[in-house]
Amino acid sequence: MLGTQTDITSQRELEMQASADRARLALIARHVPGVLYQFMQSADGRQGWFSYVSERCEAVFGVAPGELTADASALLRRVHPEWRERLRSSLAVSAVHSAQWRLEFPIRRRDGVDRWLLGAASPQRDSEGRTAWFGYIADVTDLRELEATSRDKAAAEAASRAKTEFLSRMSHELRTPLNAVLGFSQLLELSQTPPLADAHRRPVQLIRQAGDHLLTMIGDLLDLTRIEAGQLPLQIDAVALAPLVEECVALMQAQAASAQVRLVGAPCVGLVVQADRTRLKQVLLNLLSNAVKYNRRGGAVTLNARSDGAEVVIEVSDTGIGIAEDHLARVFEPFQRGAHGQSSIEGTGIGLAVCKSLIELMAGTVGVQSAAGKGSLFTVRLAMA
Ligand code: ADP
Repeated sequence: MLGTQTDITSQRELEMQASADRARLALIARHVPGVLYQFMQSADGRQGWFSYVSERCEAVFGVAPGELTADASALLRRVHPEWRERLRSSLAVSAVHSAQWRLEFPIRRRDGVDRWLLGAASPQRDSEGRTAWFGYIADVTDLRELEATSRDKAAAEAASRAKTEFLSRMSHELRTPLNAVLGFSQLLELSQTPPLADAHRRPVQLIRQAGDHLLTMIGDLLDLTRIEAGQLPLQIDAVALAPLVEECVALMQAQAASAQVRLVGAPCVGLVVQADRTRLKQVLLNLLSNAVKYNRRGGAVTLNARSDGAEVVIEVSDTGIGIAEDHLARVFEPFQRGAHGQSSIEGTGIGLAVCKSLIELMAGTVGVQSAAGKGSLFTVRLAMA
C-alpha cells in the first residue's frame, strides 16, 4: 500500500472557526428584534430576490424565511397597496445613486395585524452590474405610537399653558375695575358729606357684598392658575394650630350664625404643623365656609385636630347635606360642583381644587368622607413640626 499523509490541522482549525462564526451570526440574527437580510436586484432592475433573510421575518412580517427567499413579492404583497410603488421607486433611486435606502412603510401581517416597518440598507453593485442591499427591517409601530402620544401630550400641555396664561391675565385685569367698584361703594357707605340716604344704604351694601364675593372668586381663580403654572411661592414654617383654629372660627362665626349653624373649634393645644400659615388659614376658611354653606338650619360644624404618628390630622366635619357618591371622587377637581351646579348656593367649584393644591404644596394630603343627607368630613394631613 502506497500513500501520502498531509497535515490538515490548520485547515480543520479554519473550518471550525468558520462554523463557529456562522453559528454566532445565526444566533445574533435570531435575537436582534428586526430582520437582517440581503436583497439582490438583477442588472436590468427587473428581478429582485432575497438571497438571505433572517428567521425573525416570520415574527415581523408574518412570512416564513423560506417563502421569502423563494418569492420576494411575498413581502410586497403584505405592504399596504398605496405604499408598494413608493417602496419600489425608493429602491430604484437607491440603486441608481448607490445611496443608503431608508423607508418607513405600513404592512398588514398575515394574522391581519397592521404594523409599521422601518427598513434601512446599503446597496453595493457587483462586477455583473447586480445590486445587493445589506440591511435591517424593524417593527417601529410602538415607537410611532409613543411619538404620537408625546406629540399629543406636548400639544395638550401647550394648550393648557395658554389657558392658564389667559385665566391668569384675565383675573388680574378683572381685579382693577372691581377694586374701584368696591372702593367707591365703601366710600359711599362711609360718606358723611352728605350722608347716604337710608333708601340707598341697603343697595350700596349689596353692591359691596357682591363685589367682595366676586373678588374672592377671582382670587381663587388667580391662585389656581398660579399653582398650575408653579408660580405660587409658599413659606413653610412651624405653625401653632390653637391660635389659628381660634382665628378661623372667629372669622366664620358671623356666616355660621346667619345660616343658623353651630360652629365649634376644638382647643388643639400643643399641635404644631409644617405649613404656610396664610395659605393654611385660607384652606381652613374655605373648608369651614363650605361646611356652613352646604349645611342646614340647626346643623353643626366642628373644626378639630389631633396628632397621628408624625402627622397632624385637621378635621372639618359637618352635619350638612353631604355629597352624593358619584360626585365624591371629583370634589377636588376644578369646576366640579356636583348637584350644586345649578343650585342657589353660590360657588364656582374652584375652592376645593385650590385647597388640595395648596396642601400638596405643603407636602400634605387632603381627603373627604361623606354620606348624602348626613354630612361630610374633610381631613387635612400635615407633617408635625
Ligand atoms: P364651590 O363651593 O365654590 O362650589 P368647592 O370647590 O369649594 O366649590 O366645592 C366643590 C363642590 O363640592 C361644591 O359645589 C359642593 O357640591 C361640594 N362640597 C364641598 N364641600 C361640601 C360640604 N361640606 N358638604 C357638601 N358638599 C360640599
